[in-house]
Amino acid sequence: MNMTGKRPAIGIDLGTTYSCVGVFQHGKVDIIANDQGNRITPSCVAFTDTERLVGDAAKDKIAMNAENTIFDVKRLIGRNISDSIVQNDIKHWPFKVINKGCKPNVQAEFKGKTKTFCPEEISSMVLVKMKETAEAYLEQKVTDAVITVPAHYNHSQRQATKDAGLIAGLNVLRIMNATTAAAVAYGLDKNLLGEKNVLIFDLGGGAIDVSIVTIDVGSLFEVRSTAGNSHLGGEDFDNRMVNHFVNEFKRKYKKDISGNIRAIRKLRTACEKAKRALSSSREVIVECDSLFEDINFHTKITRARFEELCAQLFRNTLDPVEMALRDAKLDKRSIQEIVLVGGSTRIPKIQNMLSKLMNRKELNKSVNPDEAIAYGAAVQAAILSGDRSDTIKDVLLVDVMSFTLGIETPGGVMNEVIGRNTRIPIKISKIFSTFSDNQPTFSISVFEGERAMTKDNNFLGKVDLTGIPPAPRGEPKIEIEFDVDVNGLLNVSAKDQNTGNSTNSNITNDRGRLSKEEIDRMVSDGAKYKEEDEKQKLCLTARNQLEHYIFRVKQACEESLDWLDNTYLAEKEEYENKMKELQKACNF
Ligand code: AMP
Repeated sequence: MNMTGKRPAIGIDLGTTYSCVGVFQHGKVDIIANDQGNRITPSCVAFTDTERLVGDAAKDKIAMNAENTIFDVKRLIGRNISDSIVQNDIKHWPFKVINKGCKPNVQAEFKGKTKTFCPEEISSMVLVKMKETAEAYLEQKVTDAVITVPAHYNHSQRQATKDAGLIAGLNVLRIMNATTAAAVAYGLDKNLLGEKNVLIFDLGGGAIDVSIVTIDVGSLFEVRSTAGNSHLGGEDFDNRMVNHFVNEFKRKYKKDISGNIRAIRKLRTACEKAKRALSSSREVIVECDSLFEDINFHTKITRARFEELCAQLFRNTLDPVEMALRDAKLDKRSIQEIVLVGGSTRIPKIQNMLSKLMNRKELNKSVNPDEAIAYGAAVQAAILSGDRSDTIKDVLLVDVMSFTLGIETPGGVMNEVIGRNTRIPIKISKIFSTFSDNQPTFSISVFEGERAMTKDNNFLGKVDLTGIPPAPRGEPKIEIEFDVDVNGLLNVSAKDQNTGNSTNSNITNDRGRLSKEEIDRMVSDGAKYKEEDEKQKLCLTARNQLEHYIFRVKQACEESLDWLDNTYLAEKEEYENKMKELQKACNF
């Protein structure tokens, strides 16, 4: 129990490649190590003939089980199968992605059967792992959690992440922007005096997010603007290096390995390792034994070559910085601190380019890039569960909308209701009217995005107000209210001001969102998997114990046999003692 006598609430950074969990207790944040002793856990789930593995165990065996090891679902969650980002990713993944009701689902062979999972289900498995990691550390059940999402996540992606939390058996206190969480980690750590404009530059494995946060005396955190690119990160740099070596292999051996899942997986792992090494070395050797048809592929790459391969991608990382500055109406000189988060900010060229853009300002690397987001989420979780410890009692977080919200008006035009970077929570209403005489129903199609035409934006859902009494066009007054909560999730309601008739929707009919029944089914599937995992674990433990026993007995018998072979004329008592010794050795 925490200071309020309640069960502690945890903060989870559900990352594309790794996840991290923290808890605020006794006036500070503890980042919790998993059962392998690691403070970050691969966001990876593997299915085998006998079991389901989550985290390190799944990642460790990926080379042997590439087709059935699912990772990167954060790039799929809340998206449509037709999304060009999804289509492009599918080409690089060793696991199968199928179309299920316009949503991308993943497929794996599990216990001899082909199983289909939606991204929310896979994410829920990672969340359960993080929940259990916290429970083992805290020695009690945990249900309340704050889960972070990239700041650029849209409504569908936020909702889907919340659903993943529900499937994992969590009570999701808040969906929090990762950059805001990082700002909290930075601000609380520093004991700041006065007001400071801080630019958070978060470049991870899958995406980039930039937020400008004004921190006042280390306790008021006001997000001024946020911008990002949902598809620009470390994995794109890895892909550039993979393509480079595929071409080199083609030149050297006249063989195309691009269609070979296993070879590409192996090469990608080696490239990711080489990329990391290039952050500290100028040249690295890449070795892939038996990469393809028993060819040992040994080569090298320089930092300069890597930078050249990724030059355009690196330049693109600066676009969200400029956009966030523009949106916050701040110039570079008003930014007092640039805080780096996310593994890919370790790349020297990116650091140079960012510093140069910001008038050669020195970059702040003081927050732990792997843990800062979980740290901030843990603080938020404690605040929301009523912890009044001195360190956090005055902390107030004000976040903003990542996208413009609007409705479709005739001709497919996007009519803005709430603009991007508006503070949340927010409630705004607008009055509309009918387009034709005696129109009985008013339909509102809700979209999110920055483009002028709705066809280029993200469709969120439709709300119908029926029963409008016959009247000439333009006469009825329909009040549409948009209500965005602290999670960035939208509720839309419509009211006929003449009759008082109203309708309300939290956009649950949002294309592709899981229904209540589906979520319930996945919750019970989750419980079933957990039970099977437990059974499998107990079975493996029993097998290991038996194996261990056999080995000890075998060793004791072999030693006794050696003694017997070398002892021809012993006394009766000696044989009897040896017998007792052996019986004792076998009876441990
Ligand atoms: P994150 O999502 O913040 O955990 O970031 C993960 C990404 O950071 C992956 O693409 C990693 O390959 C990348 N990364 C981690 N360490 C380094 C490093 N030293 N140099 C370059 N990239 C790195």
